[in-house]
Amino acid sequence: MTPSPVLVLLLKIFLCTSLSGLAFWIVDYSLHRGWSNALGRTLLVKSFLLLGLLGLSALSVFLNLNRNTSIAVAWLQVALLALIGPVMVWRSLVFRRVARATRRCPNGHVVSALAIYCPRCGEPISAQGRRAD
Ligand SMILES: [Zn+2]
Repeated sequence: MTPSPVLVLLLKIFLCTSLSGLAFWIVDYSLHRGWSNALGRTLLVKSFLLLGLLGLSALSVFLNLNRNTSIAVAWLQVALLALIGPVMVWRSLVFRRVARATRRCPNGHVVSALAIYCPRCGEPISAQGRRAD
């Protein structure tokens, strides 16, 4: 089956926009120190895996380089796919740990470490001291 030219064109367009958007997000998130907490690190690793998979799709669409034409690409694809499950389990464990953590609002109420505002008094919770690790 040969894909229609319209389908191939759309694949090329959306691969480019997705790769660009994801690469921009990784750079922007890194510049804003997103890696400085445990949840941010898991998100960055997950994003790099997605970048790799999108990159492999781009290689296939633009250069016809895929698991059917290259054993190296096949192994890279296997490795990226194999890492997604463990990374998602890691993210879940980190999220559960962070969600259980607590701290206090300016008025002394105990709130979740993920809270932005205190649910009892509505005071904003300072980002300072918010640690996920
Ligand atoms: Zn409060």
